[in-house]
Amino acid sequence: MVDTHAHLTMKDFDKDREEIVNNFEEEGIEFVIEVGYNVESSKRAVDFASSHERIYSAIGVHPHEVKDLRGDWLSILESFSKEKKVVAIGEIGLDYFRDLSPRSTQRESFDDQLALAEKLDLPVIFHIRDAYIEAREIMKKHKVRGVVHSFNGTLEDAKDFLNMGLYIGVGGIATYKKSEVLREIISTVPLTRILTETDSPYLFPATKGIRKRRNEPKYVRFVLEVLATLFDVSFENVESVTTQNAKELFGL
Ligand SMILES: [Zn+2]
Repeated sequence: MVDTHAHLTMKDFDKDREEIVNNFEEEGIEFVIEVGYNVESSKRAVDFASSHERIYSAIGVHPHEVKDLRGDWLSILESFSKEKKVVAIGEIGLDYFRDLSPRSTQRESFDDQLALAEKLDLPVIFHIRDAYIEAREIMKKHKVRGVVHSFNGTLEDAKDFLNMGLYIGVGGIATYKKSEVLREIISTVPLTRILTETDSPYLFPATKGIRKRRNEPKYVRFVLEVLATLFDVSFENVESVTTQNAKELFGL
């Protein structure tokens, strides 16, 4: 299994980060992508990946954080890309749900980071919320490849993203009882275009017998179980296809 979206360098994991990573092999986690959300966390992701075999990193500034950008942040970000094991630009995009940064700033820095991804020939991890149409307008100005992290849109959105050659990120939300419509939409996406993720420490999946708490990469298992049911294939089949998908997109 792979977890293509986690934030293990957050303070939530200060007490047991190493233990979690040390257990990956035993739990069947082949690799995890540690995703940056501002300049500092991107640097942390890069360092974390360089010191841990099963960790890769993505660098980028999340729409919530772009309001605080100063000076030559884009060239600093670019300098991080020279480090080994940086496999993507992300998470970047638009978030018109929480609107924590002015929308014009969100659009501008999204555009800038897409240009950087194009220049570096790296795939992109997209964070888009309540702004799929607006985001696609900006994305279409660039040659993009990547994954729409924690996809939660309409059937039309899914089709448009697939037509753009993107992957659909499936995580905890797809396991929730109320997410019936989302699951129906996901079942129309070819399994070869789905990436599995947790967004740890967020989005703990709905499971029987485990109380809602901090999410961890090992719980990506519950996402694979939902996919196996949806596609009516074995867990092993979902595991091998989604692992292969991630390797293809991130060039591993
Ligand atoms: Zn995230």
